[in-house]
Amino acid sequence: MKRIGVLTSGGDAPGMNAAVRAVVRKAIFQNIEVYGVYGGYAGLMGGNIKKLELGSVGDIIHRGGTVLYSARSEEFKTKEGQQKGIEQLKKFGIDGLVVIGGDGSYRGAKALTEQGYPCVGVPGTIDNDIPGTEFTIGFDTALNTVIDAIDKIRDTATSHERTFVIEVMGRNAGDIALWAGLAGGAETILIPEEKHSMEEIAERLKKGQERGKKHSIIVVAEGVMSGVDFGREIEKLTDFDTRVSVLGHMQRGGSPTAFDRVLASRLGARAVELLIEGNGGRAVGMEKNQMVDYDIIEALAKEHHLDLNLYKLSKELSI
Ligand code: ADP
Repeated sequence: MKRIGVLTSGGDAPGMNAAVRAVVRKAIFQNIEVYGVYGGYAGLMGGNIKKLELGSVGDIIHRGGTVLYSARSEEFKTKEGQQKGIEQLKKFGIDGLVVIGGDGSYRGAKALTEQGYPCVGVPGTIDNDIPGTEFTIGFDTALNTVIDAIDKIRDTATSHERTFVIEVMGRNAGDIALWAGLAGGAETILIPEEKHSMEEIAERLKKGQERGKKHSIIVVAEGVMSGVDFGREIEKLTDFDTRVSVLGHMQRGGSPTAFDRVLASRLGARAVELLIEGNGGRAVGMEKNQMVDYDIIEALAKEHHLDLNLYKLSKELSI
């Protein structure tokens, strides 16, 4: 392994830059050259590839987004597209590739691996939905952004005695909603993994009001239903003055938390080690604060499970 490449793909996440920095610095520390692939798999197929130096990743550890940019590419889902990518990597003399992204990006890395090109996946997504790691890079930052919003909304909710519905990101995974709901003291949390009953939620809200609660906060993952629809239904069932906040893309931005920077640094560096050891086709992760790595094909075959004990706890604490 003399020369490796690094790319970021799919939805961006805070901490991706810290991961890119770790890949570049660790590789150069090991006397390996690093090339940045700009614009995800689309950039790979187009040969948008440039050499990175130690200084190329200076002053980015604290920045959200990704300096390598990200893109989505339908063409890369085809074998022809993947072959184009491999040709570019060969043209630049790149022997292995670190892919930082979500599960879609992992599928791309898996496709390259199956065609004999060594890739290592680093989990970068705010959704925390990658199997084989307890935490993904960006999740902690997104969570703290949501908490900040919930705390602010709570202040105004108390003053006006209102019910607030807060819609957060999470199409298939409810991790952001669950952790933010628990940390933000939400009365009710709606996640795609668990069924809910509108009547039961309305009952809880009414009971809360009867015992003198000044406000209620409900966190809804976007994958369950839109916050606006949910708010309308609640208003119909309770007659409570209800307001809806859709947090949207602010959840994807911002300076990464210390946790995400450390996670990104560790996982990025580990990915380089695996390529040096000749272990392509792996995905790195963190389990019980230890770094782990899995066969990327097996990792994708597993399912991400959110911690349902946390869901149970949130219900117990919000009676
Ligand atoms: P994320 O990585 O955040 O989950 P996407 O699902 O959009 O984001 O995936 C990012 C990119 O990965 C896609 O635009 C596509 O180029 C590539 N990709 C996704 N699925 C596959 C697949 N099955 N085979 C090859 N490449 C894929």
